[in-house]
Amino acid sequence: MRQLLHPQLVNDAFGDPVLHVDFEGERRALMFDLGDIAKLPPRKLLRVSHVFVSHAHMDHFWGFDTLLRVVLGRKTGIVLFGGPGFIAQVNHKLHAYTWNVVQRYEPELVLEVRELGLDGVVQRARFSSRTAFAREDETAVTLADDVLHDELRVRVRGRFVDHGTPCLAFVVEEKARVKVAKDRLAALGVSTGAWLRELKQAVLANAPDDAPIALRWRDRAGEHTMTRSVGELRTVVLDVVPGQRLGYATDLCFTESNVQTLVSLMAGVDRLYIESVFLDADRDHALRKNHLTARQAGEIARRAGARSVVSCHLSPRYEGRATEVMAEVQAAWAGVAAPA
Ligand SMILES: [Zn+2]
Ligand SMILES: [Zn+2]
Repeated sequence: MRQLLHPQLVNDAFGDPVLHVDFEGERRALMFDLGDIAKLPPRKLLRVSHVFVSHAHMDHFWGFDTLLRVVLGRKTGIVLFGGPGFIAQVNHKLHAYTWNVVQRYEPELVLEVRELGLDGVVQRARFSSRTAFAREDETAVTLADDVLHDELRVRVRGRFVDHGTPCLAFVVEEKARVKVAKDRLAALGVSTGAWLRELKQAVLANAPDDAPIALRWRDRAGEHTMTRSVGELRTVVLDVVPGQRLGYATDLCFTESNVQTLVSLMAGVDRLYIESVFLDADRDHALRKNHLTARQAGEIARRAGARSVVSCHLSPRYEGRATEVMAEVQAAWAGVAAPA
């Protein structure tokens, strides 16, 4: 079965960490962090519907201008998430430019900005090109169960870790994955058709068992129709398996509280993208800089039960030694090295 989520680190291990997550067959993507995005072609940027910014240190947010430049006049909206102060930060970026003709741009571009506070309250504001990006505040909502974004097949959760400043770590979760059991479908005497998509969506949206599904299909004998309930079809023709989960954690320091936060948020992820800024030999320096060492990153991945771990955000001081840093992460993840 094809994967729904196709994650890609935009830059090499020494570049700004940016994770672009494409959706299979949807011409849409999510993006985590907004530093250097020059390597992403415009067609990939235009797919981005939601951007999750861990914190507004420059290496995680300066690509905002590139994104805006590409989407303006081409896209109708983007939702941006960030931590404390984020709405003001977006506002400042927007108002560093002169917009005397922007109201004429087609289509209208609306930036919906969501700012998660340490108290779990999400402040919301919108900025439209029609009004030269004047800030319009919307009602705040309270976060439930760490869920920042929720849609039919995917949700994104976020929690704060400490990086000398609050920084968000994210996990993107494909909800249950529904597979068609072709053999059981044949045993039922029906064929595939557009109705299967409707059934999958009903199952993912937790539709009631008695909700009707109109089966329509065509074979050599001609056109067929039949009505069955979601409850009847669910178990007969579909297998429900857990969806893919991807973690993204950068920047943070190695404190027990950060580790606990990540271990519970990222438990059992299929892949964890995690900063591995310094070698463990430089761990005092890492602590002063509020960053992890490679060994600490690997240990977090191991304690979270991550099924694989990918390093990012290596310090340029190890240029030419990326293999060494990555080997340290993998050894700690595999439990070969002693705990950090
Ligand atoms: Zn930072
Ligand atoms: Zn950084």
